[in-house]
Amino acid sequence: MPEQSFQARCGHCNAVEHFQIGHDSTENSIEKAVKHLEGKTRIQVRSIIQKHHIDKAEYGFALYACPKCQTLYNPFAIKIEYDDIMLFQPFYKCNQCNSTLMKISAAVESYACKQCGEKQLSTIPDPDIHE
Ligand SMILES: [Zn+2]
Ligand SMILES: [Zn+2]
Repeated sequence: MPEQSFQARCGHCNAVEHFQIGHDSTENSIEKAVKHLEGKTRIQVRSIIQKHHIDKAEYGFALYACPKCQTLYNPFAIKIEYDDIMLFQPFYKCNQCNSTLMKISAAVESYACKQCGEKQLSTIPDPDIHE
């Protein structure tokens, strides 16, 4: 289970979206977390792990939002410092308007529903999580 997980329900169209933050505690190395990455990013990270000296790696599901249309995203974010001076940090684009996503800086409730674009989200704890 990731460190945190919740759902956001839209008060306008009733769409429910699932979000998670962080990574599973068993995914304690970058090698184990690679499976969450997709496409080109996954290939690039595998290559860095194999061919370079990794100094520091930060990874986990994170909340991002589009600065233009305020749509929320939940990518598996990754940042790798390697070979003393190199940095690998992919950018994420909004599917709706192609803007570069930013880490969210406010509460989830102030962002827009992916389905209808209205800002009527409310968060509810994930019922799948047990202590
Ligand atoms: Zn909605
Ligand atoms: Zn957008």
